[in-house]
Amino acid sequence: MQIINGKSGWIEVICGPMFSGKSEELIKRLRRAQIAKRRVQIFKHGMDSRYDATSIVSHSQMSLPGVAISDINDLLKLVDDRTELVAIDEGQFFSDDILSVTNKLANQGKRIIVAGLDMDYIGNPFGPMPKLMCSAEYVSKQLAICMSCGDPANFTQRLTTATEQVVVGADETYEARCRLHFEPPEESLLETSRNAEKANG
Ligand code: ADP
Repeated sequence: MQIINGKSGWIEVICGPMFSGKSEELIKRLRRAQIAKRRVQIFKHGMDSRYDATSIVSHSQMSLPGVAISDINDLLKLVDDRTELVAIDEGQFFSDDILSVTNKLANQGKRIIVAGLDMDYIGNPFGPMPKLMCSAEYVSKQLAICMSCGDPANFTQRLTTATEQVVVGADETYEARCRLHFEPPEESLLETSRNAEKANG
């Protein structure tokens, strides 16, 4: 990847389905920056506590310590002026404010890396990720391996019937699937869930 080499900052996005190696790629870039003695700060969304409340942890157990936040605006208070690289994992869980926050920090000359799911379990764009991909200088789309046939997998198959957009889980709840084997939930199931949400106000 060609990296801008001037005073300007920039935004990198690492996206793809679950198990596609987003966290591994993020950790690799962070480790290299640390070897280069760059000042790094690492954040993740507080909702994802699959393995560790604060660290970024990959499915292959690579990990780096970070800070868990749930409001992306807190980043502006938490990021030190001297920090050169700001990493954010699970970007899909944050509000659209992630756009203004990351652009502000990049405009200050910092390198920003956001990793996150680009699609939810239905196959729809997930949270702020599509907009973030538009405003990023670099976008890396990762693919996993389809658990049905071994082809490259672009989708995250939910293995349960839950219909909330966010259900935190790993191997027991989700698996990677290719286009051919991805089975989005039936419309009738989604309709029932939408009606129940409406009824509950
Ligand atoms: P992500 O952050 O995209 O969910 P991770 O970086 O946490 O992915 O994990 C990637 C690792 O997950 C792989 O290196 C591999 O060890 C493991 N893995 C488990 N299932 C799969 C799969 N279906 N396709 C690819 N890797 C898988």
